[in-house]
Formats: sequence, C-alpha cells, structure tokens
Amino acid sequence: MYDSHNCNCRRLWLVIASLLFLSVECISQTVNDTYEIAPWQGFRSAAISYTFDDNCPNQLGIAVPMFDQFGYKLTLFTVTSPTWGWKADWSGLQKAASEGHEIASHTVTHANFSTLADSAQKTELESSQDTINVHIAGQRCITIAYPYCATGNSAMVANYYLAARGCSGQVVSKTPADFMNISSFVCGNQGLNTSTAMESKADEAASVNGWCVYLMHGINGTEPGAYSPISQDTILATLQYMKNNPQKFWVAPFGTVTKYIRERNSASVSESSSSADSVVVQVTDKLGSGYFDVPLTIRRPLPEKWDSILVLQNGGTMSSWISGTDTARYAVFEAVPNGGNVTIVGKTRVQVGVRSLPNVPSTFALYQNYPNPFNPTTRIGFRIADVGFVSLKVYDTLGREVATLVNRRENPGYHTVSFNAAGLSSGVYFYAIQAGSFNISRRMVLIK
Ligand SMILES: [Zn+2]
Repeated sequence: MYDSHNCNCRRLWLVIASLLFLSVECISQTVNDTYEIAPWQGFRSAAISYTFDDNCPNQLGIAVPMFDQFGYKLTLFTVTSPTWGWKADWSGLQKAASEGHEIASHTVTHANFSTLADSAQKTELESSQDTINVHIAGQRCITIAYPYCATGNSAMVANYYLAARGCSGQVVSKTPADFMNISSFVCGNQGLNTSTAMESKADEAASVNGWCVYLMHGINGTEPGAYSPISQDTILATLQYMKNNPQKFWVAPFGTVTKYIRERNSASVSESSSSADSVVVQVTDKLGSGYFDVPLTIRRPLPEKWDSILVLQNGGTMSSWISGTDTARYAVFEAVPNGGNVTIVGKTRVQVGVRSLPNVPSTFALYQNYPNPFNPTTRIGFRIADVGFVSLKVYDTLGREVATLVNRRENPGYHTVSFNAAGLSSGVYFYAIQAGSFNISRRMVLIK
C-alpha cells in the first residue's frame, strides 16, 4: 500500500538533510589526531561504480548474475513509465535490490531535461522516485541519472536526490564539485569499448584518490535500439581486473559511494576512554541516523603490545583488521556514524622464545580471521619469516577448495587478505597457509 504521508515526511527529511549538508560539507569534519578516516572504504585508492541505464533486458539477465559472482554491486538507473520500450521488470529489480544492487531513477519517460520546464522536471523527479520506492522494498531511491546526459535544475534535483549522474567523461574528485552533476564514462561502441580502456580510467581514478563511474546500456548488442552496446566479456574482464587489485579498487553502487563521501566529510571521531586492552571511540556525523548507513573505514596506530583486535559497535562485531608494517601498524575498523559507541578490544601479544630484531619477523603465523563468525567478508592475517612463495586457500568441510586468497611470492612480515564469501552458503570453512615448510590451518564460520 502506498503511504503518501510517510513519503512526504521522508522527502522533507531529505530536503533538510541536503540543506544541512550543503552548509556544513567542507568544514564539519573533526577527527582526533590519532585517527584517520579512509578516503574510500577499506583505504582503497579509488571508488568504482558500474551504472546501467534504460532497463535493457540483459542487465538483469546477464550483468547482475555476473556481478553476483564477484560479490560486486551495481546501479540500475530505471525508467519507470509502463509505456517505455523496455518496461521495468519490477520483480527482477526487486530481486536485484534484495541482493544489494541499487535501483535508482532514470526519470519517468526518459525525459530530456534541457527542453523541460521546471514543473515538468519536478514531475519526472518526484514520480519516478515514488514509483521506485513503491515497487522496491528494503531500499530508498536516492540517486538519478539524467537521460541524454542533459542536466536539470540542480536546486530542484537536490530536493529529491543525494546525487545525479551526468556523463562528461571525467574522473570525479574525492569530493565532487557538484553532486548534482557527477561525471561518468560512456562505455560500449560509442565510448570506452575495451577492458583496457575502461581499466585505464580506473587506474587514473586510483592515482588521484578519485571516483570512476562507468555508464552502460545494452549488453552484447542483442537489444535493438540500445545505445552504445558493450560485450559481456569486456565487462567481465574489468571485473576480474578489479578483483585482482582488491586493495586498489572499491567497487560499490553509485548511491553507496555518494553516502560514503557525505559521511566521510561530515564525520567526527573522538576517543572517550582507553585502557591497556580497549579503546572506546565515538564516530558521529550531522547527517541524521538511519539513512546514512554506510560504514566508514577508520584507522589508528595499533597500541604497542596488541597483536590482534576485535571491534564492537552497538553490541555487534564490525569488520576490523591490522594493517601496515612491523614498525607502523594500524588498527583498522569499520563503523557506522551515529551507530553507537565503538569499542576496540586488543589482544596482547604473546612473547615466545627469544626477542627478535625489530622489523625482522622471525616466525610464521596464521591468525584467526576477524570477524568470526562473518557475513560475507572477513580478514585473515598471516606472518611469514622469509621471502618466498605463499599459498592461502579456503576449503569446505569435505576438503574441497573453494577459494584461493594468496598464491604468490611474498616479502617477510605481516600481511592481511580479505575473504568475500558472498557466493558460499553458511557453514564451517577452513583456511590453510603453506609457506615453505610452514603449514597450518584454522577454522572459520560463515553465518548468512
Ligand atoms: Zn537513457
């Protein structure tokens, strides 16, 4: 049932949030000197968003399953009018939304805003958002893409949306100059048409800590009339490239990245207490709770005697891991602004045998993953003493290999790797390391 009263409240709230945001965007971050908020989730170098327009059928049939395989989420900019040539498949879109993909607006009629009066723009903005919110449960429509890349009345768009996508073919800076005209790269035969061309834009974004937004329409050229089709193999190759550089690229929907930027720029981090084995931290922002719910990644130097950490927020376990070298190690964790106190619990290093020289690890170790149990991502740390070939693999309880996390030469020292089990079912898994003659496994639990 459609509740218009509730909808108006939400919209009013969004207006207030936008106004607040506009007035405080650049000046409001206050972060305790000890702490650092990541430019992008996981301290990765760039944000990457894959966006698809026009409801072309292969997007649900081919793109979504392909992204699911990699555990990546995309954005579907949807035209909502039932008379549009590719009528929205609401049940298919709902299924995608339930898996974490973003369903956003591409107006009602695929309108060209450059030729529309404000009143008609308002109808396109408002009605498409309402229709999506009525059909899609579990998420709110917060972003829009301009058909024909024709930007609208920015102030009016901002009354309804947190961000709007244009397509001027540029990497977006860490904080966009204009949220109502976020640039993207047209992909396919009218734009970037090879995986190499697409990857070079992602690399460019990484070099400036920026955001690379891809814009796609039809896939494989099997949808007559679809603008600038691209082959699924090209998309697949870029996804593999992202996966091969997990520390470099944060692949996330357009709306998720938008929220992260706004949270990051508005957040305050302060420490209220610390003891030998725990630190309590407050992470807040001025954006209002319940809506800006994307975890920020934050780090602080690891207290000297700590060897592992567990991070809790509001009673739940948050993603956390240890990064850096033996001389400069960080406790890294995720926290939702305004999500309650964050407690970092440290476990003290157990000294075994003779003291080693600084920065020269003398032992091999495979640490317990954090969080554990997990869903669907977790971090695994290991330490190796000598340079050499390292293999770290995940097995199910029947001993079948389900993932290879490391399979390369590594330098001595402490390393961490993330494991995404989005494609696996709940249960017990084992991870095993092999480095020279060192060989050990540990148990972890996936709960979905
Ligand atoms: Zn379009």
